[in-house]
This record gives sequence, structure tokens and C-alpha cells, in this order.
Amino acid sequence: MNRILVINAGSSSIKYQLIEPETGERFASGLVERIGEPEGRIAHRGAHQNERSLPVPDHTAAFEAMVAAFAGEGAPIDALGIVAVGHRVVQGGDAFVEPTLIDDEVAERILSLGALAPLHNPGQYQAVAAARSLFPDVPHVAVFDTAFHQTMPERAYTYAIDRSAAAEHGVRRYGFHGISHQVVSRRAADLLGRPVDELRQIVLHLGNGASACAVDRGRSVDTSMGLTPLEGLVMGSRSGDIDPGALLHLLRGGYGADDLDRLLNGRSGLLGLTGVGDFRDVRAAADAGDEAARLAIEVYAHRIRHYLGAYLAVLGGADAIVFTAGVGENSAALRAEVCAGLEWFGIRLDAERNGSAERGARRIGADDSRVEILVVPTDEEAEIARQTHRLVG
Ligand code: AMP
Repeated sequence: MNRILVINAGSSSIKYQLIEPETGERFASGLVERIGEPEGRIAHRGAHQNERSLPVPDHTAAFEAMVAAFAGEGAPIDALGIVAVGHRVVQGGDAFVEPTLIDDEVAERILSLGALAPLHNPGQYQAVAAARSLFPDVPHVAVFDTAFHQTMPERAYTYAIDRSAAAEHGVRRYGFHGISHQVVSRRAADLLGRPVDELRQIVLHLGNGASACAVDRGRSVDTSMGLTPLEGLVMGSRSGDIDPGALLHLLRGGYGADDLDRLLNGRSGLLGLTGVGDFRDVRAAADAGDEAARLAIEVYAHRIRHYLGAYLAVLGGADAIVFTAGVGENSAALRAEVCAGLEWFGIRLDAERNGSAERGARRIGADDSRVEILVVPTDEEAEIARQTHRLVG
């Protein structure tokens, strides 16, 4: 038994999965939420399903609840065969270009990168600290969402602002969803039966968060998210691209920094345009004749096409366009809207394949499409387990 415990933590929640890294098989998963609130909650799925409310004052208590949930189903943590813990870390800055064994110094650097990712790194640091003290006998590995994009050339990650201001504040494009773009582009190559280092791919990760990535022979060369996960595509409640001049206009109009943060991260995107942030609800409203919902879907698809065109130019053409995550994997209608009218580029969808109820990695392009069009389910936890296992042997 060589199993990896994969941890995806936030400031008030911890998701965990117990995974066999070579096959990706899951043995258990769970979510501890409302950490730090008067009453927390755990939902555990292993040999049994088990949900209950309990006090979870901090991340240590959250891991103790997880350990108790395993023990409660007759699987004491020592008997689970855990050989390492893999932690998802959102922001690795330009210091971390690959999965990294966590020691005290690495943990401190994850914390200090919180200045660039205040919503993510501080909670992840706390989870790392709690997990290291509860499971001191196994290696802990940090797998970074930004690492895959560290191969971007300078011209793609540099913002054209005053160089010294940018350097002083670490302002550059880092990119996110890297774990997803990496596993999806590799699985896309597997599906095509070709080495990833022969392919130019455009990966469209369309979930609640959304980003596009130009992957040139297995390496990220451009991506739509930037310094933070706010730039780029239209998302559930995030704006994506907006003229920075609009922010100045709002600031001068009385908005403060926190107001702007709440507006752009929490009250924009599909939610801002329609009042609902879930793509299915927006589609249902549009189908029922709601004008705002119809426009929101058009804006959403238009932005994706904008990046698709840009990345065709960045890559000098593409061998495959790959749809992934909640919307990308499930909405045939959105995929059709994105690909409509792109025949001149050699992009031709097959309506029947696109509409099929099949799940799993699949080809949806027409036989005469020069560019392959694929749906490839993402699996970030399996990828974290795989990278953790590779590092610790
Ligand atoms: P994710 O963040 O990858 O879990 O994706 C969440 C998004 O996927 C939400 O906006 C959902 O509405 C959307 N989604 C999930 N299932 C479907 C579906 N069958 N059709 C359209 N959108 C879906």
C-alpha cells in the first residue's frame, strides 16, 4: 500500500482525498468546513459515509476530525498506508517551479507569498503546519498552481508598466490552474496517442474559475490569469479582463480597495451580469427568454473565442483544443458556441460527437477538422498525488 493523502485547503475549509498515485484510485475523500466558526462540519466518504457537525476551531482540529472519521469506520490512520501528504498551494511566486518537499523554510516561504495570494496561501500555510505536526513521520510535498506556468517566456509574463514599480511589488503574470492544465494536456496527448512534446494545445479550463492556456509541446507559454486569478476569462463571480482605467474611474468615484475587491471577485462575471453565478442556472434563464442571461452567455463565449484566437497566434497554429472543468466537460452548447464559425482555422466540431452523453476523455471534432477538438476531464487531486509520489519515490 502506497497511498497519498492529498490536501486542498482554504482559510476556512479542508478538502482531502486518499489516492493510490499510480492508478489514481480513490479510497476516501472528505470536506471539513466552517473552520473557526462556532460550529464546523465534516462530510467523510470512505468505507462509510459520515456527516456531522462539531467544533473545528482551527486547521489542527480539522485534521483531527478527519483522523477520527477514518477511525470511526475502523480504519485507523496508521493503517491506511499513507506514504506522503501532497498539499495544493495556489501561489508559488517565481521561487517554486516544481513540486517541493516542505521543510520549515519552504513553509515560511509559502506564508510570505500570501502577500500575492491573500485569499489562499495563508490558509494553506496553516494546513501545512497543522498536517506536518500531526503526521511528522511522512514527507509533505507542496504542489503549486503557478509552477506549470513558470515556463512562460518573459514577453508573455511581463506587464508593460514601470519596471521598478513592477519589481518592487512582484507585479507580473504568474497564471493559475497549472495543475489542471498540466494533467489535462498530458491526458489529451494520451488520448491522441501522441507524445505531449509534439503537440501545440489550447486548454480551456471552464469551471467556476476559468482560464485558458497555450501549451507548446508540454510547456505553458501563455495563460489568461495573471498576477491573481482575476484576469482573463469571464468566471462565476469574477470579472476577468477589464480596462485598468475602469478601476481608476471607480476609485475616483468613491470605491475603496476592498469595495473593488468585492466587486471584481464577488459581484462580477456571470453573477454580476445575471444575478446567478452557476452556468446551468444562467443557461436555464437564457433558454426561458431572459435577455440578461442571453447576453451573459454571449459575453462569456466571446471572451473564450478572443483567447482562442490569441493563442492560435501565440502557438502559430494548434494541434488540439481541449475543453475541461464543469462547463467545458458538460456543456455541449457552450462548446458549440465557442467553435462556431472557426472553420477557416481548421476547427470543425462534429455535432453528434459533441452532443453525445458519453463521459470521460473523448474526441468531438469532425473527421475533416484539421485541429483536434477534445473533452478531457480534469483531475487535480490525482495529479497532486502523482507529482507527490514522483518526488518522494
Ligand atoms: P467546476 O468549478 O469545475 O466544478 O465547475 C463549476 C461550473 O460548471 C458551474 O458553473 C456549473 O454550473 C457548471 N456545470 C456543471 N455541470 C454542468 C452541466 N451539466 N452543464 C453546464 N454547466 C455545468
